[in-house]
Amino acid sequence: MMFQIKVSSVSKVIPIETVSSLLERGTQKLNCGKIETPALDARLILQCVMQIDHADIICDGGNPVPLPWVDKFDRYIARRLDHEPVHRIIGEREFWGLEIEISPLVLEPRPDTERLVELVLDWIDQHMNRQGDIRIADIGTGSGAIILALLSELDNACAVAVDISPTALDQAKNNAKNHKMGNRVEFIEGNWCEPLSGKFDLVISNPPYIKTTEISRLAPEVRKYDPVIALDGGVDGLAAYCQLLAQSAVYLKTPGAVFFEIGHEQAESVKSIAEEMGWENMNIGQDFAGNDRVFYASA
Ligand code: GLN
Repeated sequence: MMFQIKVSSVSKVIPIETVSSLLERGTQKLNCGKIETPALDARLILQCVMQIDHADIICDGGNPVPLPWVDKFDRYIARRLDHEPVHRIIGEREFWGLEIEISPLVLEPRPDTERLVELVLDWIDQHMNRQGDIRIADIGTGSGAIILALLSELDNACAVAVDISPTALDQAKNNAKNHKMGNRVEFIEGNWCEPLSGKFDLVISNPPYIKTTEISRLAPEVRKYDPVIALDGGVDGLAAYCQLLAQSAVYLKTPGAVFFEIGHEQAESVKSIAEEMGWENMNIGQDFAGNDRVFYASA
């Protein structure tokens, strides 16, 4: 619904949009642009622009929206129409119940990666205990989502988070600070496991694992907006695993384990790379859709 107010008795009439009319208009635009979840995305964008929650939208649907917010909403809707993911527009995404800020230079955390967190916690429950002094290395930390999720469950754990991108590290540090875990993670710029020193209970990673030639075929949300450095796994998509498996063994305590996210068709290849390097006790975990998603192996 749109209604109008007269600015004065003679001046022109300015249309005013309400919360619900704006939401309706945004949803329609996204729908016409064939965006998959138009109503949800328009609502999340409106909530972000007005700094309100879902309940406010329901209760205050008839309230007029000030023009600067209407303009901002329209700009954000235009970005979504260009396939920028809604959480990049908003600038944050929930992962394991934590709000994680995402800058253009970090991979957007995916819900399926929460499976890696679950499997690590299961492993800890079987081999140590959650209150222990657990030391974890996170290689290619990006936004820091995985390591912060784990630390949020492990009160006495600490971590080293490595990334080759200083900008990603800044983002991860910021997220750690926002969640009051800055003093539990040491952030180091570097290549794979090279900057590590000492021993760890766990070495984890969500490395780049898409074949270089496949990147151009990914959804625009991914190919245009996730940083290529966080996606590109080389010619066969397996380059990161060769590095990680070759380098990580020397940093593991006994018991200790590595957990790596993998592409859904990579389980056999990653297992055979690991086998050749002498890894044993290998397992594959599935994501929420039942696809192979996590490789793990104990030392
Ligand atoms: N899972 C991501 C995707 O959907 C890829 C992330 C990665 O390469 N680590 O494309």
